[in-house]
Amino acid sequence: MAGTRVGVLGGTFDPIHHGHLAAASEVCASLGLDRVLLVPTAAQPFKEPDGPAHAEHRLAMCRLAVAHDPRLDVSTVDIDRGGTTFTVDTLEDLRAQQPDAELYFIAGADALARLSEWRDADRLLALARFVAVTRPGHAMSPSSGAYAVVEAPALDVSSTDVRRRVGEGRPIRYLVPHAVADYIQEHDLYIGGTDD
Ligand code: NAP
Repeated sequence: MAGTRVGVLGGTFDPIHHGHLAAASEVCASLGLDRVLLVPTAAQPFKEPDGPAHAEHRLAMCRLAVAHDPRLDVSTVDIDRGGTTFTVDTLEDLRAQQPDAELYFIAGADALARLSEWRDADRLLALARFVAVTRPGHAMSPSSGAYAVVEAPALDVSSTDVRRRVGEGRPIRYLVPHAVADYIQEHDLYIGGTDD
């Protein structure tokens, strides 16, 4: 649809947690986006290939997490393409699917601080606007004027912490959606904890 404003939140989502969802929700409201797509990576350039949970599980958990929010949806472009996920490919594929949409790529301020190292960094800026989500304890660099900055609620939760908690037999409810906690338990995910 012409003029649709679509946020794109790429991530490993291993697993998805309330920090991701709060960031997506805040950017959606703050920038007046029509919806935000969560795009689970196949393999991430700066991370170990095929981390703790297989892509099929990470995707299933993302779908459970957005099931009750009509503003949020999940795209499989990165998993379908396979191989290492480069954001330039993510945005090219989404643009091919939705040629008239305005794309807003959302990432944590930590990730965007390394944007100049990403593949085809110059081209990226032509494909989408970039939105940096500030995180607790992160100071924005002077170059942050290159993209919009949205302050998300300070939810000090990380996927690493969720995996570690599962490995230690500690609770993860209220850190991740209930359906995601149930999925992790049913599929015995992360019982070995985290290797980060
Ligand atoms: P991730 O850890 O799965 O998290 C997804 C996003 O949510 C990140 O931007 C992350 O910010 C943010 N986030 C996590 N916890 C949060 C919290 N508590 N509150 C608010 N925001 C939170 O993401 P990732 O594996 O680093 O990947 C991010 C995206 O960047 C992916 O689409 C990946 O493909 C892309 N990427 C592309 C290249 C490239 O093209 N060369 C290189 C690197 C990454 P933080 O980053 O600050 O944790």
